[in-house]
Amino acid sequence: MIWYPYQQMKTMKEPYKIVDAEGVYIYTEDQKLIDSVSSWWSVIHGYRNPKITEAIKNQADKFSHVMLGGLTHDPVQKLSAKLSEWLPGDLDYCFFSDSGSVAVEVALKMALQFYVNRGDMKRTKIMGLTHAYHGDTFKTMEAGDDEDYHFILEVYGENKNAIHIDTNIEALEEAFARYHNELNCFIVEPLLQGAGGMRMYDISFLKRARELCDQYDVLLIFDEVATGFGRTGYRFVSDVVLPDIIVLGKALTGGHIGHAATVANHKVYEGFYSDNPDKALMHGPTFMGNALACSAALASIELFEEGDYLARIKHIEEVTRECLEGFKDPRIKEIRIMGGCACIEVYDSSVLNGYQQFAYERGVFARPFLSYLYSMVPYIIEDDDLVKIYDTMKAWFTENSMP
Ligand SMILES: *Cc1c(COP(=O)(O)O)cnc(C)c1O
Repeated sequence: MIWYPYQQMKTMKEPYKIVDAEGVYIYTEDQKLIDSVSSWWSVIHGYRNPKITEAIKNQADKFSHVMLGGLTHDPVQKLSAKLSEWLPGDLDYCFFSDSGSVAVEVALKMALQFYVNRGDMKRTKIMGLTHAYHGDTFKTMEAGDDEDYHFILEVYGENKNAIHIDTNIEALEEAFARYHNELNCFIVEPLLQGAGGMRMYDISFLKRARELCDQYDVLLIFDEVATGFGRTGYRFVSDVVLPDIIVLGKALTGGHIGHAATVANHKVYEGFYSDNPDKALMHGPTFMGNALACSAALASIELFEEGDYLARIKHIEEVTRECLEGFKDPRIKEIRIMGGCACIEVYDSSVLNGYQQFAYERGVFARPFLSYLYSMVPYIIEDDDLVKIYDTMKAWFTENSMP
């Protein structure tokens, strides 16, 4: 019996069974669907990409996995060298793990221990954003502010280790003034808060955050698990404002196999580098640096570099604006567009009941949640498929009149 994610199993509708997938399409026995959400935002080059598939096959012919405890291998060495060179600034020190949540855990652990290693035991707090999502494990739930996890607060009481602020500069300055010597880090999903409702905010907020982190000696962490690899229109938001630690996941392997990385800058790495074994980072996921995953990630990054992806994403954004901007319905609260992401927020979440099946019948796979109807398309999508996704969204409103 499969226990499905984010589902009340008693009332869950049968999931669609996928029998094949290629390009932007996933196939059930009787329907061909455009995947408008790229399998949780990860399949940026589409399914069964030949280059990534070949890289995985070639590596599987050698070995699929050896642990990184006391061992190393070509794919992980090449990937860390590639990321060090490819990521901005001195984000050079790559710690691998098997999922985004774990990679965020690693970043949070790094931030806390960075100060402990200096003998500063007072910096116990994490600062994050309201509506933040950083993963489903316990510390990431604490750093995040997802309503689905507020039951945890009901059980454990007030969250003493994390504070959350809105994305406005006044709140940011106030929080730093008040908490700065208790904070070890400020963690954000830069520019685009995904699971918290595709909320978009301005780069000036991040620029000010960088200044304040420098002023008060607080580490700045960008959780780019969702925003990395072009989703916002930037390659990484870190290209514009440089964090101390960047977290990558989801699209790292082009969505072909799970893997993630926590990449620290020189300052953070130096905080652990010592003759004293107690100052080491005590972490080691069993499957970190998996050889198949590293090979897939290398191939995915090469595709990204060769394929002029930023121009593609810009084009996707333009087509999206043509299709959605100015579309009006009294049930719609706001339409938000950034890079390869679009979101229609409705006032009342019940308005979206039945949308998934409606889209299925029209050849689109969608997965609205709460009051958000959104797309996060694979970047290889052709214009007619992209337009079809938005036509389907608009048809839901124009064909279903107000009750
Ligand atoms: C999906 C996501 C995570 C968690 O990644 P998993 O691989 O699902 O553990 C963390 N942070 C952000 C911003 C995400 O979107």
